[in-house]
Amino acid sequence: MAGLDLFIDLTAPNGRQWKQPTGLFINNEFVKSSSGQTIASIDPATTREIASVYAASAEDVDTAVQAAKTALKDPSWKQLPATDRGILMGRLAELLEKNRELFATIDAWDNGKPYHVAYEEDLTEAITTFRYYSGWADKTFGQTISTTPQKLAYTIRQPIGVVGQIIPWNYPLSMAAWKLGPALACGNTVVIKAAEQTPLSILVLGNMIKEAGFPEGVVNIINGYGREAGAALVQHPLVDKVAFTGSTATAREIMKMAAVSLKNITLETGGKSPLLVFNDSDLEQAVKWSHMGIMSNKGEICTATSRILVQKDIYDTFVENFKSTIQATSKIGNQWDESTYQGPQVTRAQYDRVLSYIQLGISEGATVVSGGGPYPPNSNGESGYFVSPTVFTNVTDSMRIYREEIFGPVVVIVPFETEEEAIERANDTTYGLGAAVFTKDLERAHRVAAEIESGMVWINSSQDCDPRVPFGGVKQSGIGRELGEAGLEAYTQVKAVHVNMGSRL
Ligand code: ADP
Repeated sequence: MAGLDLFIDLTAPNGRQWKQPTGLFINNEFVKSSSGQTIASIDPATTREIASVYAASAEDVDTAVQAAKTALKDPSWKQLPATDRGILMGRLAELLEKNRELFATIDAWDNGKPYHVAYEEDLTEAITTFRYYSGWADKTFGQTISTTPQKLAYTIRQPIGVVGQIIPWNYPLSMAAWKLGPALACGNTVVIKAAEQTPLSILVLGNMIKEAGFPEGVVNIINGYGREAGAALVQHPLVDKVAFTGSTATAREIMKMAAVSLKNITLETGGKSPLLVFNDSDLEQAVKWSHMGIMSNKGEICTATSRILVQKDIYDTFVENFKSTIQATSKIGNQWDESTYQGPQVTRAQYDRVLSYIQLGISEGATVVSGGGPYPPNSNGESGYFVSPTVFTNVTDSMRIYREEIFGPVVVIVPFETEEEAIERANDTTYGLGAAVFTKDLERAHRVAAEIESGMVWINSSQDCDPRVPFGGVKQSGIGRELGEAGLEAYTQVKAVHVNMGSRL
């Protein structure tokens, strides 16, 4: 079988050149997939193919899991002092820092986000996450518990074992960092599967894992299709834990598969996050943050504040200012232009999905006050997946555009009268990921923050995310927490040891 070369020369539209691995990264080496199956990665701004990489079959997943299992017991990892584990992770963060423009180039090209955003935001997040968790490696202690004078108990926090991690395409490298950081800090070994839409940067990360000095088999990286490689990873009997970020529908499938062997799971899924603007808020700030909360990253954000609820007396002004902010800020273009705010949607499938939701909103009777279709309209020759930032008004709470996650630059803005009504409507959703509240009234800000059913609340802001602060959802937005000290819970298990101090008792 000839197949693809394991390393190919790529040159991005910004002129950056590098050797792109195409294989599955198992035991610190790139290998071909057993079936020869591949995935093509597409530049969503031009719809041209960037490169193809190998896609894992169930057999390849088994090879990767076996490698992780062997590494778990290998003294070079198992006996490695926790401080040294942290040092390896710190080295990995340094390598990411050194290759910041390479990673930003790859994720911009593959995902469609502007290069300057990938460079400044995604890479900062990935690097600081690895650094943050490198510090935790030697700080996860158990407890000593006195019981009776004759008995003593203590707990130790041990790794869970082999962890299967499945990540999405909207923040390819930083999602890998969120998953790998805490898992490695706690001494687990990993098989991580990237999303088929963005398979490239994680393979370059494989190079850095090896260069940083991680023992072979500790981190195994595969590309592959969700239903094949993803499902095989979730179902593998030697995988002790599954951590997933993606859609709620896929999370449901994963939970079902994991139920067979009662696998420990962490899920970070979808959202329809509300943003509440009270009439005493700083309107300029409220508009600025609420625009960013839905239009940044082309709306491809699980925490996007996609339902904006505005108090009635400032509603019309808010909508007008929101439209003007789109005009002034949402410049649409390719990934390489410094002035681009919004790039193309990641794939044809996402582009079609977002456009079909826009059509649905129109047919449901909502009013389009901005955008409302592809960008540019009636384009010919322009083949990228660009969507006009779209605002709907005259939306009722039962409309599907109000209730369902669209995952694109589409927002509904609705009026409310009282705080009570705002909270009730904000909570009228099956999701519970993020929520934002704008007010200058301190008491109201904290009261509303406490009442909203979500894993995170932003007061006078939107989308804040920091490796030191827990991230996750309630209701159908997820199970468990990532980031912060809380993120360690997902990757350790507590063992209780009882000691008999009085030998005759
Ligand atoms: P989206 O619909 O936005 O592409 P998904 O939730 O389908 O999001 O994908 C997120 C990740 O889950 C990807 O890595 C994908 O390959 C993986 N995935 C999709 N379907 C399954 C599945 N049935 N089992 C395991 N992983 C899956």
